[in-house]
Amino acid sequence: MNMTSLLRIWLTRSFKPFEFKNRHDNRLDFEGLDQLGLYVHIPFCRSICSFCPYCKILYDQDLSERYLEALLAEIEMVGGTLDAPKEATSLYFGGGTPALMLDSLADIITALKKHFIIRGGIGVELHPEDVRVETLDALKSAGVTMISIGVQSFDEGCLMALGRSEPDYGRIFEAVRKSGFETVDMDLIFAIPGQTARILKNDIETAFANGATQISTYPFIDFTFADNRYKPLPEKEKKKMLSEITAFCVYKGCQRTSVWTFAKPGTEKYSSITRDNFLGFGVSATTLLMDQFKINTFSIEGYINRNENGELPTSLTLDFSLRQRAAYYLFWSAYSMRISPDSFRSYFGKPLESMYGTEIGLCVLLGLLRKKGTEYELTEKGAYYYHYIEQAYTTAYIDKMWNISRNEPFPEKIILK
Ligand code: SF4
Repeated sequence: MNMTSLLRIWLTRSFKPFEFKNRHDNRLDFEGLDQLGLYVHIPFCRSICSFCPYCKILYDQDLSERYLEALLAEIEMVGGTLDAPKEATSLYFGGGTPALMLDSLADIITALKKHFIIRGGIGVELHPEDVRVETLDALKSAGVTMISIGVQSFDEGCLMALGRSEPDYGRIFEAVRKSGFETVDMDLIFAIPGQTARILKNDIETAFANGATQISTYPFIDFTFADNRYKPLPEKEKKKMLSEITAFCVYKGCQRTSVWTFAKPGTEKYSSITRDNFLGFGVSATTLLMDQFKINTFSIEGYINRNENGELPTSLTLDFSLRQRAAYYLFWSAYSMRISPDSFRSYFGKPLESMYGTEIGLCVLLGLLRKKGTEYELTEKGAYYYHYIEQAYTTAYIDKMWNISRNEPFPEKIILK
């Protein structure tokens, strides 16, 4: 039995695996949930990057117009069940390359605002090619407040290893400077073949010197269905690099805002995943509710057909047991470097210690967690083990789930052990 299975059995106190069934409901039970995030997936790209695991397809104007209609229909189907507009924490656009539907983003935001009051910011992921003054101005006019740029690396050799070419950095830095967005995230990948500590530090330095308020540093992961010419550096190197990134960012005065993100103090976080609950719209988007996890189909035609027929495009639904939901909740709380017993109690109606007292005590004893005020905070050692476990789950769960979903629009079931 592997580590991921053992951990799942221990934390859920059950041998029952995560079983996703081919079931869709046309009504989602989210009206009573607080801390609700919104996510919209735009799957179009100009070209396909070999390392990228996300659900995407080459841009086609006709298809993008049909996709927009389907997306608006899905938003209306979900939001239309509300008696009154509901508060949402934030809205994030990911992909794919959302800027390829730049002219439609305002329509999508308007459709969402009909049903949701978006209290926090609106964020958009950008390909470096789209970081231009006119594009950023258009995003601002549409109501976008945060941007995340998929830089990956500023080093030519590293970009080549990832199958990317060097963009015009002068144009990017000038656009970021002129746009004046309060939150600018830059994504950087580490453990790329040929990457050294010096290159990595230079990447971080360059990002912060040119307008980044936050960097997200993701380990290079070789998904089984990706087409990577070069493989990631071994885990030993990843461990060393993560520790170097952490030390360098702390030295630069940044705060660690999650296991893989570092931000300038006093700036708003760019984070699309650390929400108690979220609604996902578009192909491959996921929805997390109190007792369910849902995944939309990865097939664009399947997605459009379902919406045209007045049905939600969910391909798989997982009904959580309480322990499964609590384990999932803790996993993502820990990603943000802190676990709040008060938030846990208000979400589950039970004290954290009554469900996971032994585990929390053990983590404190092993130096993975420390008590800070009313919360538990991950130590650097804890953050490393989280990074290690997260990669193991990515390989065991996400790789499997996405691989099947890429090939079957509506799989019969998926069991994650
Ligand atoms: S990395 Fe970005 S641009 Fe490249 S294929 Fe993935 S989503 Fe598209």
